[in-house]
Amino acid sequence: MKFDDGKVDASQVQDLRGGRGGGGGGMGRGATVGGGLGIVGLIIAVIFGVNVVGSESQTQYVPVPNQAGMGTGSDIATRCNQAGAIDQYEDCFITKIFNETNEIWGSQVQGYRRPTIVFFERGVRTACGPASSQTGPFYCPGDNKVYVDLGFMQQLLRRLGANGRNAEAYVIAHEVGHHVQNITGQERRVRQLQGQDPRNRNRYSVLLELQADCYAGVWARQANDRGNVQITQQELNQALEAAAAVGDDRIDPRSSPESFTHGSAQQRQEWFSRGFQSGDARQCNTFA
Ligand SMILES: [Zn+2]
Repeated sequence: MKFDDGKVDASQVQDLRGGRGGGGGGMGRGATVGGGLGIVGLIIAVIFGVNVVGSESQTQYVPVPNQAGMGTGSDIATRCNQAGAIDQYEDCFITKIFNETNEIWGSQVQGYRRPTIVFFERGVRTACGPASSQTGPFYCPGDNKVYVDLGFMQQLLRRLGANGRNAEAYVIAHEVGHHVQNITGQERRVRQLQGQDPRNRNRYSVLLELQADCYAGVWARQANDRGNVQITQQELNQALEAAAAVGDDRIDPRSSPESFTHGSAQQRQEWFSRGFQSGDARQCNTFA
């Protein structure tokens, strides 16, 4: 991926690393989790199993300094705007992707308000309840925040090399897709439907997740077409592979479709592709 020269904007970053704000424990209701609970670990396993490691990874990713008291958005603003920082530092890369998603959605969705991205380690308290780093990246509609444990993301990169970055971008774009659903009221409507029709709770969840995948595709297409983020066909394929890797049937091959909460590998790829092919959020009506 190649980015435009726009500055990394850390104004919507909340960096809790090195702090003691940990919560730990299970995830409260209402959070819309990236791949599903604890799924990024599985992304690693699944993609790693596909053996795409290393060959094209030439950039040496340097772990983000992790000392106590480090983190504020202003440090990111300074460090991430130095030459080469986006390639070098994970939090810079993720912040840049996050900025780019907001730029696109700000021009697409009326009344769009940028969410906050929170970097944490170990555990965090959220409006959706406490979460641990095992939770994987997730969005909480109660506080409009995308939560990311960078240790998790670094693990992804150590395993996948450059391919991990495409998986990361997909995950961040998916989470911001949930924010779009929050802004448009779609998320709330689905929660209501789930309350009225609890037997189909999982089915509604799948439709919401697939829509977030489709929005991730729309973002990738628009960012690419506008020249904000250049995405190669190979990178797109890797993002698609990441989408498949977090399909419910990949995560647990023995699970039944009724138990799916995020959609099958094929569905997740299809909706991401549909978003990318069309570049049009109106094509993401998974509820039709
Ligand atoms: Zn999700």
